[in-house]
Amino acid sequence: MRSEIEALLRPDLRGRSAYGAPQLDVPVALNTNENSYAVPQVVVDEITARVRAAAAGLNRYPDREATQLRTVLAAYLSATGTAVDASQVWAANGSNEVLLHLLQAFGGPGRTALGFTPAYSMHPIITTTTGTTWVDGMRGVDTEAAFGLSAASATEQVRRHRPDVVFLCSPNNPTGTALGLDVVEAVIEAAPDALVIVDEAYAEFSRPGVPSALTLLTGRPRLVVTRTMSKAFALAGARLGYLAADPDLIDALRLVRMPYHLGTQTQAVALAALAHTELMLDTVDAIKAQRDRIVSELTAMGLEPVPSDANFVLFGHLRDSHAAWQALLDRGVLVRDVGIPGYLRVSAGTPEETSAFLTAMADLAPTHKE
Ligand SMILES: *Cc1c(COP(=O)(O)O)cnc(C)c1O
Repeated sequence: MRSEIEALLRPDLRGRSAYGAPQLDVPVALNTNENSYAVPQVVVDEITARVRAAAAGLNRYPDREATQLRTVLAAYLSATGTAVDASQVWAANGSNEVLLHLLQAFGGPGRTALGFTPAYSMHPIITTTTGTTWVDGMRGVDTEAAFGLSAASATEQVRRHRPDVVFLCSPNNPTGTALGLDVVEAVIEAAPDALVIVDEAYAEFSRPGVPSALTLLTGRPRLVVTRTMSKAFALAGARLGYLAADPDLIDALRLVRMPYHLGTQTQAVALAALAHTELMLDTVDAIKAQRDRIVSELTAMGLEPVPSDANFVLFGHLRDSHAAWQALLDRGVLVRDVGIPGYLRVSAGTPEETSAFLTAMADLAPTHKE
């Protein structure tokens, strides 16, 4: 950055580099947890028809309240077993913007947010860009499981740091680890003045019996559950994230959102996809099967995959994770180096993509294993 610009920059942003996984043109891209399956043709047709129908009206601002979309999102969540009303739903351009709205409203200078790392790297970035102080909590303190988080450890850390906002991520990125609801309940109790965010971007990929924090919403007005259409819904390019919370909390978000933040076309695309929810989620089981296959085949190779409730697997026991990342890339397979020494993260793709990764890894394991 030119020094004149650097001098103008907010002091807390100086010297930082921008977030972003490399967007490389490779045969097998398994690095950003996207859904590998293209949007089905009937949904493509529905999206096209709805955007076409809305196009002439683009001279007007969009429905600022996204009422129809929030109603349909509420119905989608309600179908999972917890009744949610449109007044409890907020939508924005990706769950990243949803999180930004939360931090703009409930964080800010003089306030702190606590997360348990390793977790989603955007949580500290969104926190600090809103002038909120980030506090790095720890996972894997008193649990047998790698990267687990116990209610006791979470409680102790929350009591010690007294944050204004707590981030929980379940299933957690990049580890794939789901949290027990006892952890969420314990954190809400241990931090009586904090907003508690549970980022459930990967909820649809959870194994049977893994509960959603949606089931805890009633009677807990400080709890927020965030979701996205970027992963299971195979709609990362459309940018649609949402949350469920108390209606009063939604009201608070109206104070910080830009007017008309969610474009007419974005609302139309999301509604088209939601009109075909079952079809859009058709690939989830296939992806889960590939995830489980990755876990078992990597184990057989002598590597150490972390059990996953998401659409990716973090695996360890690598001598030099960056060297292994490069060797995979040389074979046309792009995975994610998440910065945990000895570990890499791979998204579960189609059976063919997953085979390409596993074949390359089987080749590399003997020389790259710890
Ligand atoms: C991918 C991901 C998101 C999704 O972000 P969008 O802005 O909705 O695309 C949110 N949280 C976590 C933990 C993620 O991994």
